[in-house]
Formats: sequence, structure tokens, C-alpha cells
Amino acid sequence: MPILNRAKESGRRTHCISNLRQIGLGIQMYRDDNGDRPPLYLVNPKQYTFGYPGGKTEYLEKKNSLGSTNLFVCMSDRTKGLIPIDLGWEYFGGLGGGKAADSFTTSYAYHMGPWQQTNPDGKVWLADQITRWKSRFIVAACPWHRHLYSGWLGSQANFTKTTNIRDLALRYDGSVNSFKWPVNNREEEPYITTR
Ligand SMILES: [Zn+2]
Repeated sequence: MPILNRAKESGRRTHCISNLRQIGLGIQMYRDDNGDRPPLYLVNPKQYTFGYPGGKTEYLEKKNSLGSTNLFVCMSDRTKGLIPIDLGWEYFGGLGGGKAADSFTTSYAYHMGPWQQTNPDGKVWLADQITRWKSRFIVAACPWHRHLYSGWLGSQANFTKTTNIRDLALRYDGSVNSFKWPVNNREEEPYITTR
């Protein structure tokens, strides 16, 4: 990677880490005010709740007055929060344009969202994950640092091309650190990789 690009990416990572820390603090404040229940959404999903409840009120940004939606957009996110991909992560947020491409306003995947909190299977999954990984459970994550350099397969992220760029993650204990997606065992390795 050219040196100038590396310096720019370093700045973007610093900004992203700050975003994730703010989101972590916001979630903690929300839990303190709501009987330990996390927010259902990071940003306002408007009509794009995919059938999940609470879309109009229970989002973090409104509850904590954390500023504009820009807080939840990573500078390395080339779609600026309008994520056209489905990585199997939890993205919500609507601009109201009525098009699928308009339906996301955050760069960050959120793993304590409406499925995890309101669906019976989701509740079991979340409880199991927290029991299993404890403070290392990934509450929210930014995939964009890797995607900039790993390329794409059509509209999907290219998991087959390896890179040393690490994604950033907000852990259950509020810390922010990075992990490298493995080629195999995607379910577990991000949780146990250190640094
Ligand atoms: Zn980021």
C-alpha cells in the first residue's frame, strides 16, 4: 500500500475508533436508563425494520442526542452509510427514499439489534454469545477498512482474498479494537483473535 494511502487510512481508522467508542458509551447510557436493555437500533430505521418492532423510537442516536447520523458513518465507508451489501450483519436505518439502496445510514453492524432482542432464536443466540465470549463479544463492527483493499465479488465482499487490513470492533466491555477476518471459521475467530 502506498505511504500516502496508508496515512489516510490511519486517519480514517482513528475517526472510526472514536465513532465506535461513542457508540459504546451511548449504548451504556441507554442501558443505564432502560433497565439494562440495549437500544434496538443504532440509527432510525424508519420503515426498514424488516418486520421487527420498535423502529420509530428505540434507536440510539435519538435517545442519547449523539448528534447527526454522520457519527455512525465511517470515513472509509465508500457508500457513506448506504451499504449495498448484505454480509449477514445487522444493518438498519432508512432515509425514506423507498429504495433498498437508501435504506442504510450507518457503516456499523450492530449485534444487539431487534433480531437479538425480540426474536426467540435471537434471544437465545445473544445470551449464548455473551456467555461464550463475555467481554470480547462484538457489539458493533466496522467492515470497511478491509473492504477497501480486499476487493469485491460482484456486490459481495471478497472473503477469499486475504489482506492484513483489520476491521474495527466495539466489544461488550466497551473497548474498541481490531480483528482480522479469517478465511475459514468466520463465526468464531474474530472473537478470539487478539490485538
Ligand atoms: Zn470504520
